Amino acid sequence: MAQLQRLALAPEQLHNQHIHLTAEQQHYLCRVLRLRDGDRFIAIDCQGQWWLARLHLAAVAPAGAEILERVPAQTELPAGVRLIAALPKGNGFDDVVRQATEIGVTAIAPVLSERTLLDPGTQKIERWRRIAREAAEQSERQVVPAILSPVLFSQALSELAATDVSALYICVARPESPHLLDCLSEQQSLSQVLSASDSNPRPSIVIATGPEGGWTPSEVEGAIAAGFQPVSLGRRILRAVTAPVVALSLVAAVLELQIKN
Ligand code: SAM
Repeated sequence: MAQLQRLALAPEQLHNQHIHLTAEQQHYLCRVLRLRDGDRFIAIDCQGQWWLARLHLAAVAPAGAEILERVPAQTELPAGVRLIAALPKGNGFDDVVRQATEIGVTAIAPVLSERTLLDPGTQKIERWRRIAREAAEQSERQVVPAILSPVLFSQALSELAATDVSALYICVARPESPHLLDCLSEQQSLSQVLSASDSNPRPSIVIATGPEGGWTPSEVEGAIAAGFQPVSLGRRILRAVTAPVVALSLVAAVLELQIKN
């Protein structure tokens, strides 16, 4: 099934064993990919389920599809990973969303920090959601990460207080902070996250990265008060769009190695 096309569906498109395709999806499957009546594809519901589906093309009715069977797939990380990223200037966040999705993040929270220059409109948010959906399809994920509405960093911290998060890290470009890899590799912190999997299949790790000008001292203090551990990603200063990719790659690698061992 590796070669079959993936198509992300909204929940309202599924009715019993039938899939209603949007006009855009019909165009994509029939005109762009040139699938024919009876051809198969993988339907994903963006929340962890995959199905093998068969396309139905009828001359008089809109194209639809029928679900044939559920596909067991294992492309998700063993823990939920949320990225909190201060918005960089320009279109830099497009790449952050695309790459973070490919690496396996389950939620992306864009935040406005004290040194953030960009205040995005709703069109940008819709664009990021589309990029996440396309990146999830391309990287054969079962889950399309949630792109949360941008809020102030201080609000993101208070919203986290109400959630059941296992490990929180704020990336700070200060060499005296412990390296994220050391923190993740510490027996205790990760075994806590993964042993929580017995009762809760998706415990969470949160990674926060700052804007071009960095976090202000009061933002770092606020994060520490909210339970975040300040961490380094090495001795070099990474761009605001590079730091999330480096941090998330370390998280994904350590989580996947823990599962293997
Ligand atoms: N002069 C800024 C400062 O001192 O924070 C540099 C900001 S850097 C361009 C943008 C963000 O990437 C930082 O706020 C931090 O979250 C992350 N970052 C960049 N390099 C890092 C490093 N070596 N270790 C940890 N985080 C880093």
